[in-house]
Amino acid sequence: MAVCELMSSCLFFNDKMANMPGSAAAFKRSYCETDNERCARFTVYKAFGRAKVPPDLFPNQEKRAKRIIAAG
Ligand code: SF4
Repeated sequence: MAVCELMSSCLFFNDKMANMPGSAAAFKRSYCETDNERCARFTVYKAFGRAKVPPDLFPNQEKRAKRIIAAG
């Protein structure tokens, strides 16, 4: 459980969620400020680095993250 070190630079908040402030706040509370280890984006980042994290990957898309990691 940790506050995510990527918060200031995470594409998800700096781009994808700009027009959905309510959802962004909920995701931020659940993942970024509480438990980034559960975040699909953080999982892919940890496995492969920032370049491999799809811009449109949502924090709650754990299955998609697992597929990305399995594919290498
Ligand atoms: S969406 Fe995930 S990777 Fe981005 S700041 Fe939040 S916890 Fe970190």
